[in-house]
Amino acid sequence: LKDQNTLHQFHPMTHPLISREHRPQIIVDSDGCYVTDIDGNRMVDGLGGLWNVNVGHNRAEVKAAIVKQMDRISYYSSFAGTATAPSIELSARVCQMGATEEVDKVMFSANGSDAVETALKLARQYWKLVGEPMRTKFISLKQGYHGVHFGGLSVNGTPYYRTVYEPLLPGCFQIDTPWTYRNPYSEDPAELTNAVITQLERTIYHEGAGTIAAFIAEPIQGAGGVIVPPADFWPRLRAVCDQHGILLIADEVVTGFGRSGSMFGSRGWGVKPDIMCLAKGITSGYVPLGATTLNKRVASAWYDGFTPEGVIMHGYTSTGHPLACAAALAVLDIVEGEDLPGNAARMGERLMAGLKPLAETCSVVGEVRGKGLMIGLDFVSDKKTRTPIDPGTGIVERIAGYAREKGAIVRPAGSVIILSPPLVIGEAEIDVIIDALTYGCARYDA
Ligand code: PMP
Repeated sequence: LKDQNTLHQFHPMTHPLISREHRPQIIVDSDGCYVTDIDGNRMVDGLGGLWNVNVGHNRAEVKAAIVKQMDRISYYSSFAGTATAPSIELSARVCQMGATEEVDKVMFSANGSDAVETALKLARQYWKLVGEPMRTKFISLKQGYHGVHFGGLSVNGTPYYRTVYEPLLPGCFQIDTPWTYRNPYSEDPAELTNAVITQLERTIYHEGAGTIAAFIAEPIQGAGGVIVPPADFWPRLRAVCDQHGILLIADEVVTGFGRSGSMFGSRGWGVKPDIMCLAKGITSGYVPLGATTLNKRVASAWYDGFTPEGVIMHGYTSTGHPLACAAALAVLDIVEGEDLPGNAARMGERLMAGLKPLAETCSVVGEVRGKGLMIGLDFVSDKKTRTPIDPGTGIVERIAGYAREKGAIVRPAGSVIILSPPLVIGEAEIDVIIDALTYGCARYDA
């Protein structure tokens, strides 16, 4: 199975947006911010795996930590009355890193979708345990992405992802996302926040505050196309949640651990959520791991065990997997030791500055936006109306392909090209990405 053709015959394609005929690039090697495909092309990893390889590929420290743990014990449950040392150490570490957010307890799982499912269940559990069992509903944002499980799908902000799997959880509502580039209200950030907050208040009023368990959103929307809200949105959101007692869940699966230029995306907005969903960057993708953090308020109702209706039980076989936790501890040493949030902020500025001119020079780039090392190029068929380009035209794929020829892997996602390189990236690699996309856009226009 060494050559491309044989490998492609066995390729189990499961992504709905990629046709069976599409031949994915097979990645076989890696070092730092670079990956090499089966044909020997070495490219800058503009995706950081899938928004997750924050510390870069093939780090000796992370590999050593996993092997060291394997030499002791590879698996034992941290869920059913036993625990392993790395899972306890990692809980303490995540609480310490989230101390500013008042993180008090951590529940581990295997990926981001689990972390969201755990958060939604914990929110409901909280309200049962504090004697407000009517609070079962969830509010979220349009364009939001919260993984693939039924709970996460129910709060997903794109009907297109949800419809086939309906009926989903009842009592889930999506309000408009505050987005200056494409929204029905205003390009003025302050007016936009006011409009969306008003919509939120109306939804709360209409449904009854006493029926709403939580509001869930990404501090910066990722999969929806890298949508950065106005700076006052999250503080206003926090205030409305506080006013009505609603729990605030930050889905930090992408933004957690430095990607947007601060350790957590919500911290970047000056907000402390009640619950955070973490995954991806926690292990930098070396092994799968999800984590859901609870602040003191929610943790106080954690795991009391029994209610008149039944036992409270939530956990996975892989909860606190020792290899994943050992990897995470090594990864977090790097994240803090090398100040990766700081580097993400600095390199993000360089990347934005280098790409921004494309919105002027390229006929199909409508906007370049982002925060830290989460950046999106929005492709439009008409710059005035800002109509997203039809992905069916293949234009976005084509430009991404040209960029690959110039040494950078970038991710075409619908009408947006997403960039999320490793947070250890340096100026030279940032410039490769800028040059590759500039070349790709110029070649399209030529
Ligand atoms: N939440 C967000 C914000 C995500 O971006 C993702 C994945 N991209 C998920 C949840 C789901 O994570 P996973 O794919 O690890 O299940």
